[in-house]
Amino acid sequence: MNADAPDLYPNRLDAVRARAREIGIDHVVVYSGEDMAYLTGLRMESHERLTALVIPAAGDAPLLILPSLELTDPVRRAAEQVGATVHPWADGTDAVALVAGKVSGRVSVSTAMPALHLVPLQQGVDGEVVLASDVIDHVRAVKNAHEVGELAEAARRIDAVHERMGEFLQVGRTESEVGELITAAIEAVGLTHAEFVIVGSGPHGADPHHGVSDRVVQAGDVVVVDIGGPLPSGYHSDCTRTYSMGEPSGQVARDYAALQEAQRLAREAVRPGVAIGEVDAAAREYLAATGLGERFIHRTGHGIGLGLHEPPFVAPGADTVLAEGMTFSVEPGIYLDGHWGARLEDIVAVTADGRRDLNNGERGLRVL
Ligand code: ZN
Ligand code: ZN
Repeated sequence: MNADAPDLYPNRLDAVRARAREIGIDHVVVYSGEDMAYLTGLRMESHERLTALVIPAAGDAPLLILPSLELTDPVRRAAEQVGATVHPWADGTDAVALVAGKVSGRVSVSTAMPALHLVPLQQGVDGEVVLASDVIDHVRAVKNAHEVGELAEAARRIDAVHERMGEFLQVGRTESEVGELITAAIEAVGLTHAEFVIVGSGPHGADPHHGVSDRVVQAGDVVVVDIGGPLPSGYHSDCTRTYSMGEPSGQVARDYAALQEAQRLAREAVRPGVAIGEVDAAAREYLAATGLGERFIHRTGHGIGLGLHEPPFVAPGADTVLAEGMTFSVEPGIYLDGHWGARLEDIVAVTADGRRDLNNGERGLRVL
C-alpha cells in the first residue's frame, strides 16, 4: 500500500469501471501479474492455478478468486482496501468455470491471461470475451504524478550507471564481463536487478536484441549499451547509449549525428493531442531523408511503467492520441548488418503543454 495515497487502488478500480461502462463492457477479468499489481498492489505470480479479479462494470463489489493456499493476511488486507470479496478455491475445483459463472455480456480479459485459462473461459462464458486493451491498458497508459516521479527516479539511477560506463566498458574485456560489471552497478544504485543488459560490440550492435557474448571489445568498436531495471515499486528504467572505443570514423560520426537528430525531432514531436504515430514519423522521415531509412528496422518506442514494454507503442501509423501522463521510450536506431549499429533511447513523459525528458544523460556518441 502506498501511504501517500491510500485511495490509489480504489481510484484505479473506479477508473477501470468507468472506462468499461464508457465502451460497453460488462465485466473485466484481471489476471495476476502487472494488471493485478496495478489495481490492488498484489504481486502474485502467474501459474497453472488461476488467480483473477472479477470487476463488474456497475453494481456489485469486485471478486478476488484465488487458490486457497494463496490466501494470506496481506492478500486479505489488499482485497479489503479495494472493497473486493474474496473467493478462495481448493485444488480439485474448476476455477475457470468459477470465473465464467460470475461474468456475462461483454467480458474484457487481461492481455496477459494465458491460453490455458483463456480458451476454457471463452468456451464457458455466457457472452463475448474481448481483450482488455481498451480498458485496463487504456487506464494504465496515463500515469499520475506519483508514477511519473517513480519513472523519473528510475531513469535518474540508470543514467548514473551510464555515467560510469568508462569503468566497465574497456577494450580487452568480453561483452559478458562488461555486462557483469554493469549488472553490479545497476544493483548498487538501488534498482532491484538488471532486467536486461545489452552490450552489442562491433557487428553485434547491428542486432537490436543482442544480449552479451564472449566477443572481446576491440579498439575502434562502436558499442550499443541498452540497460534497465526496476525500482522496488516496480517502475522500470530503460536507456540506451552508444559508445565508440576511440575516435569514430567520419562515416560513423555522420551517421550517429543523423540518428541523434532523428531522436531529438521525435522527442520534440511529443505533446498532448498528437497521434503517437507522428512521433514515430518524425524520426523515420528524418532518417529516410538522410539515406538511413532502410537501416531503421523497428518501431520508435514503447510505453513503460509497471511493464517494461506496455502500451502505447510508438509505431508507424499508431493512432493513440497523446495525453498528459503518458510515458514511453523514444529509441530510434540504425543497424548496418555485419558491421555496427547505434541506438539512442530516452524515456519521456507527456506534460500539459509538451514533454519532460526523464533521462538526461549526454546523448552524443560517447568516446571512451
Ligand atoms: Zn532499451
Ligand atoms: Zn526500450
